Amino acid sequence: MFEKIIEGIRKIYGKGYISLHAPVLNDEDRQGVLEAIDCGFVSSVGPHVTKFEEELCRFTGATKVVAVTNGTAALHLALIVSGVKRDEYVLTQGLTFIATANAISYIGATPAFVDSDEETLGLCPKALSNFLNKHAVRKDGGAYHKESHKRFAACVPMHVFGHPVKLEEIMDICASWGIPVIEDAAESLGSKIGDRHTGTIAPIGVLSFNGNKIITTGGGGALLFKNEQLAQRAKHLSTTAKVPHKWEFFHDEVGFNYRLPNLNAALGCAQMKRLPLFIDTKRKIALQYQELFSSYPDVKFFTERKGTTANYWLNAVLVPDRKSRDLWLEKLNAAGVMSRPVWDLMPELPMYRHCPQDELKVARMLADRLINIPSGVPV
Ligand SMILES: *Cc1c(COP(=O)(O)O)cnc(C)c1O
Repeated sequence: MFEKIIEGIRKIYGKGYISLHAPVLNDEDRQGVLEAIDCGFVSSVGPHVTKFEEELCRFTGATKVVAVTNGTAALHLALIVSGVKRDEYVLTQGLTFIATANAISYIGATPAFVDSDEETLGLCPKALSNFLNKHAVRKDGGAYHKESHKRFAACVPMHVFGHPVKLEEIMDICASWGIPVIEDAAESLGSKIGDRHTGTIAPIGVLSFNGNKIITTGGGGALLFKNEQLAQRAKHLSTTAKVPHKWEFFHDEVGFNYRLPNLNAALGCAQMKRLPLFIDTKRKIALQYQELFSSYPDVKFFTERKGTTANYWLNAVLVPDRKSRDLWLEKLNAAGVMSRPVWDLMPELPMYRHCPQDELKVARMLADRLINIPSGVPV
């Protein structure tokens, strides 16, 4: 079986070592970065930052985009402008990348971990509803924890590997409890629900342009907004909360140095030109994988759900159990085909063990059985 699978993967990616997801950089990217150097603006002010934001607006349909140093910083700011405060709870899925939980902790808030959906791999609406019904009471237009009386101040569903979560249902549930929603769309640039881009459906969405994401700025991230005022506040906080003035240094609150440098934004502008090609190529690769795995009935290759478009950032297969997962990882990696298990559940990590959580039954099953296989754009 493994020989056949490895052969199938090599048909897509060719000979030699195959990484999970290498950035695709070419002469256009080099030119872009050189342009930034030549114009003299390399830091947090410069023409490419604005240009990159405008291009992201155009591509995603967001009203306003604020580019920042990385996706984690974008999440941090998104939580702040959503009104999350110290000692409050923020709902998210137990199976996510660490950044989702860390950004919540930076505020002094505590993540509350809810189970995943077997179909989307992301936050399960039913589990969210059950969790709130069990643990929350409605008060003053918001949701409060029954025992600790702390507020559930936000909910952060994450579109895992570029597969959109069941966002409409999640947003309906959150609306009924008065909980603001932030989309962690760090992995889903190019993914859509209907014709709406992920990250633009909730009031705030977050992107990442880390080296392993679908496009990269070296390091970088962005917040997507519908509301101009919220965007303005995020931008203000990202630029040390300095009140614009020709020479005076007046800062009206504690801000952050989170603005994306122009050097990185220049790379982003160059990458944006090829984003449609990247998505197109990744979708074709996913079709090839789908075909390859269709011969193995006990192996499930994740495809996009009806009514959604996935960017197929990372391709994922579900194998029968943890033991076979380990065998897959051993066989593929030994053959020079990089493959990886999914993240450990957040509450398995020492700093998040104490957090409120449900049984995370589906998340545990997924954590035992999911594998990511090579997903980059072949060069
Ligand atoms: C990559 C990622 C982030 C954080 O992005 P950085 O740019 O690496 O800080 C946040 N959430 C998810 C789900 C991610 O995959």
